[in-house]
Amino acid sequence: MELEVILLGTGVGIPHSGRAQAGLMVKAEEPLLFDCGAGALLRLAEAGFSPLEIDVALLTHLHLDHVSDLLALAKARWLMGENEISVFGPGGTEAWFEALRGLYPYLEELDVSITLVRPGDEFSLAGLKIRAGEALHGLPALGYRIESEDKSIVYSGDTEPTESMRRLAEGIDLLVHECSFPEPFIVTNHSTPKRLGENFRGAGVKRIVLTHLYPQTIGREAEMVQDVLAGLGPDVEVEIGQDLQKIEI
Ligand SMILES: [Zn+2]
Ligand SMILES: [Zn+2]
Repeated sequence: MELEVILLGTGVGIPHSGRAQAGLMVKAEEPLLFDCGAGALLRLAEAGFSPLEIDVALLTHLHLDHVSDLLALAKARWLMGENEISVFGPGGTEAWFEALRGLYPYLEELDVSITLVRPGDEFSLAGLKIRAGEALHGLPALGYRIESEDKSIVYSGDTEPTESMRRLAEGIDLLVHECSFPEPFIVTNHSTPKRLGENFRGAGVKRIVLTHLYPQTIGREAEMVQDVLAGLGPDVEVEIGQDLQKIEI
């Protein structure tokens, strides 16, 4: 099955023009939404989706730039007559969602099913196989591998480049990986281009699209791609992701 990925938001917690906060759509039998930061709900509409089509959301972690539009998405569906939504996320997701929803008594009738996901978990959704991998981000955080019979994607969420993320991405067609800052930025819990490239050298990834771009990356995009390639070696396509970019694999 062909897979289509739509980058809804390629930005971060500090706003800059043209990049909404984290969100990514994988179109299969039904659309699967990964993360839903501020602006992702608007991007969904701009990408031509009704909130009613988004029955399932998978969260990489609970930082606001990855989740702050999730309750707004659930509310949009409720306004349109649909109470149910299914959410997959790391430890703490249920407590987070219930605490937030508890501030809005009129949303009590939302029927939210929350599934706890741990690194190594595998499950099926929308005709696809999903596997979670551990991300390194200072709190429970996941990357997701998404596979049809013959195509495969990994979405890293927020992470340093790690061995677990490399194993998750072994042999895939498309890696959407965070690359928060350009060189020579020193940072923990996030990725920078050279370490990212070195981490996936020889992992058999065909194409890498960089996302989760801080304002410090503005004007440094071409150089970031070159720095990833310097560690990675040739034969891999690397590019900077753009909001609403569609990628068919
Ligand atoms: Zn984060
Ligand atoms: Zn983030």
